[in-house]
Amino acid sequence: MITKTLRTIQDMVDGFGLDESFYDVMITGISTDTRTMERGNLYIPLKGATFNGHAFVEEAFAKGASAVLWSREEANPPVDVPLIMVDDTLQALQRLAHRYRKQLSVKVIGITGSNGKTTTKDMVFSLLATTYKTQKTEGNLNNHIGLPLTLLRLEEDTEMAVVEMGMSGFGEIERLSHIAEPDVAVITNIGESHLQELGSREGIAQAKLEILSGLQKDGVFVYYGDEPLLRTKIEQLSPVFHTITFGQTPENNYYPLSMALTAEGTTFTVNAAREISFQLPILGKHHVQNALAAIAVARVFGIEWETIQKAFATLQTTRMRMELEKGKTGVTIINDAYNASPTSMKAALQLLSELTGYDKKIAVLGDMLELGAQEVEFHRQIGEILTPASVDYVWTYGKLAREIALTAQPAFPHGRVRAYDDKQALANDLCALVTEKDVVLFKGSRGMKLEEIIRAL
Ligand code: ATP
Ligand code: MG
Repeated sequence: MITKTLRTIQDMVDGFGLDESFYDVMITGISTDTRTMERGNLYIPLKGATFNGHAFVEEAFAKGASAVLWSREEANPPVDVPLIMVDDTLQALQRLAHRYRKQLSVKVIGITGSNGKTTTKDMVFSLLATTYKTQKTEGNLNNHIGLPLTLLRLEEDTEMAVVEMGMSGFGEIERLSHIAEPDVAVITNIGESHLQELGSREGIAQAKLEILSGLQKDGVFVYYGDEPLLRTKIEQLSPVFHTITFGQTPENNYYPLSMALTAEGTTFTVNAAREISFQLPILGKHHVQNALAAIAVARVFGIEWETIQKAFATLQTTRMRMELEKGKTGVTIINDAYNASPTSMKAALQLLSELTGYDKKIAVLGDMLELGAQEVEFHRQIGEILTPASVDYVWTYGKLAREIALTAQPAFPHGRVRAYDDKQALANDLCALVTEKDVVLFKGSRGMKLEEIIRAL
């Protein structure tokens, strides 16, 4: 955690106005939210569309803040308190994080991509933490506020920082990359999320590639090499940085030789260490891809193969994706209702099709939201890949998901594919259908709240 005198902080944020009597006051850690603030923190009030943190400065002091920042255009700053004026508090937060990062000897690993950022971040952390003092982004704190806060939490003796970088539009990853100046940049994949804002898959690739703008000169770029939008671009750049690719095909530096799904998780072998069988306690072949990205980073920092193998076997993730649960009826539930894009929905359905040992496989699919003008087309594409060989029942919930059902229907026996508009009706029918020998996959955007159906099981 950052620990400095106020005099130093004032310099680091390009601030002014601090009364000399407070020069030697120490701050430890930064808070932008008085609800989670801790004693000794520097409170940085941020302003959003619906809130203004400056209104909580008094509360911050009451809770033990050492000092506060204040945006100069805000009226009535409190007097006789340790306060530093800045042009803009958000910029001050980012500047402070950037300058703090530059003072540390830490190596920063920045991870972006359409899917799998958090999972890959957790994997890279597990591998590096075997050997180095390592810190990572907590949960999903991956934006223009979360990333600076993550950097400001770094301890001075931390050797590796694994940070997630998210975005919803152009320019955002560029800003994050300039703040963090990663030593290693990772792009997990290019999917279809945020198509609405970015216009096309080319746009999405371009936005993710912004991560290179802050990459250190002697840095390493690890990316999904089976994505032509990335590979062509990088080959054109004839880059100054070192590149490492991972993917499914032998064109890549790291690719799987074999993969299998079992009740315990996912096992795989890798071209670069043929004799070792890796085991992940999470389900899904797409996680092998995330694991390959993590391996690539770990090998950059010299982690031994046996150490990697052990760390994967005991992997802790922020929130288990593709979590296997048991319903009240004993039915197996794959809860992947946290979010959905075409890529992740296809991955989840692929997983369902590969699972063996169940009587009936049932997919309950909700709308994939925020896909822009082609949203209907994306749902139809999901319908096209569904076959009775891969799944026994397909039930949808929502207007867009109905398109999945309509497209899939002709390929299935009568009654197996249904479109619901009523969640309760779907839940009731599902309870009547399933037994303890079945497996049900739930997948849909967060906003569809499919967990309400899961609870009924
Ligand atoms: P967010 O944008 O919400 O932060 P994220 O990029 O951090 O997402 P995760 O939280 O790791 O991604 O995973 C989110 C979803 O993507 C899960 O449903 C998971 O099953 C799926 N997923 C994870 N990795 C991949 C991958 N490599 N390819 C496709 N889908 C993936
Ligand atoms: Mg995430």
